[in-house]
Amino acid sequence: MGVLGRVDRQGVGHLPHRHRVTPGTFYERLATHGQELVADEDFAHCYAPGRGRPSIPPSVMVRALLLATHDKTSDVESARRSRVDLDWRAALGVGDEVAGIGATTFSSFRARLVLHDADRQMFARTVERAVELGVLKGEVTAIIDSSPVIGAGAVADTYTLVRQFTHQLAAVLAAQRPKAQALAARIPAAKPRIDWHDAAARRAHLAELVAVARALLAQAVGVDDPAVVEAAGRLGKVLDDDVEPDPDDGAPRIRQGVAPDRMVSASDPEQRHGRKSGSRRFDGHKAHVVGDEASELVLAVGIGAGNGADATPAAGLVRQTRWHGVRIGELLADMAYSDGDTRVAVEAAGAVLVAKVPPVSNGGRLAKTDFVIDLDAARVTCPAGQTTCDARPTTDAKGRATSRFHFPTAVCAACPLRSRCVKGTRGRTIEISVHERRMAAARAAERDPEVADKLRRRAKVERKIDHLQDVGMAKARYRGRRKTLLQLRLAAVVVNLDRLVALDAFTATSRALAA
Ligand code: SF4
Repeated sequence: MGVLGRVDRQGVGHLPHRHRVTPGTFYERLATHGQELVADEDFAHCYAPGRGRPSIPPSVMVRALLLATHDKTSDVESARRSRVDLDWRAALGVGDEVAGIGATTFSSFRARLVLHDADRQMFARTVERAVELGVLKGEVTAIIDSSPVIGAGAVADTYTLVRQFTHQLAAVLAAQRPKAQALAARIPAAKPRIDWHDAAARRAHLAELVAVARALLAQAVGVDDPAVVEAAGRLGKVLDDDVEPDPDDGAPRIRQGVAPDRMVSASDPEQRHGRKSGSRRFDGHKAHVVGDEASELVLAVGIGAGNGADATPAAGLVRQTRWHGVRIGELLADMAYSDGDTRVAVEAAGAVLVAKVPPVSNGGRLAKTDFVIDLDAARVTCPAGQTTCDARPTTDAKGRATSRFHFPTAVCAACPLRSRCVKGTRGRTIEISVHERRMAAARAAERDPEVADKLRRRAKVERKIDHLQDVGMAKARYRGRRKTLLQLRLAAVVVNLDRLVALDAFTATSRALAA
């Protein structure tokens, strides 16, 4: 492990090629303002203390990763540009003392950032700088949204997943169980040449795969090596999610239907089948983004499972902005964030969620929202004018205590609206949510023109997501969620640097200081 190298701000390393950079480009912006956002000292904890060969300064490496993100270049191409491209060299802030950056240095520096979570600080610095520059002042209105990120791993079918996970388990199990490799060798390493159009041949192949996989899992029992536990977990999961016994003969068959958390790639087991809308499917992860409405700066980012709920990270991202010195007053969001649990969690994190409440449906019959629910008086009045106070205790889908109001069976039986209201033979019931008051207030607030305007402004975040996708966030460059988060943080720094320059934030501050 090298020791921390530092850019010599007094010497030749101080932006020697800036005069050669193409004006008005990202390279010029990074050359001019990079030192305000990236400092070697921010990464000191990633390096060994004491003597040794100094590393390429981390501020130079971060600039190089930002350039690679902006230009969407491979490590080999990034290495070439770091040697010969004058725009890159100006943006890196290096002189002749740095000949260039080796291709492998990029991957080892990324690994170092991830290991020490130093990319968090790298992104946070742009937000903190915006606070220092006065761009983010007081309580801000922020907007949250998510966006699909296509995974970097190859999507595989069940046969391939079982085969590859079996071989992966055998490889890590071999040290403790000498027969593991021989057992796994009973199934081919590559896709076999069977007649894939023949259902019986596919079935026989699956039976062979499952038999070897289960035998290997049995061998792994009792081995506490973390690598074995992880590999066995993956193999066990794909067998549970993708394979089921045929009810006719008990032989393994591909499961009918798709398990909700099914793995889709052997090379990136964290990828999931995701859905951004009814018609838009993807395999990969979800990028979660909070942006400031006024400045359009990215305030917080996260990467979640491709099949995860949009709303789950909302409160955590609001807290993240607090750590960076930003206070969110209102968080604008779409209907995916509108549930009561998310509203409570966001409030606990210090912000008020403003999101449209989804319409309530009841299979074409009168919906709950057609009833007048008076929680203070503990009564419900239906569209036919009947009132009930018969509230009985029950639990919701998460096991929380709540109540359900019952209309008398005889009253509903005689009601002219019955066919539009009740399905069975009993009287209508109305379940009260644990968030009933909060959701009713949110629904009522939507009639306020000011709130309606905020709900329309929510769409502004899509511009920010477009900008992040312009710098590559539509597709993961690396496997796994953690490295995809690194990619997102780099993209967010590129976007924020562009935005700070567009807002004239650096220049305005310099003028103010000079005045
Ligand atoms: S069916 Fe019952 S609950 Fe529904 S409108 Fe008629 S009386 Fe009211």
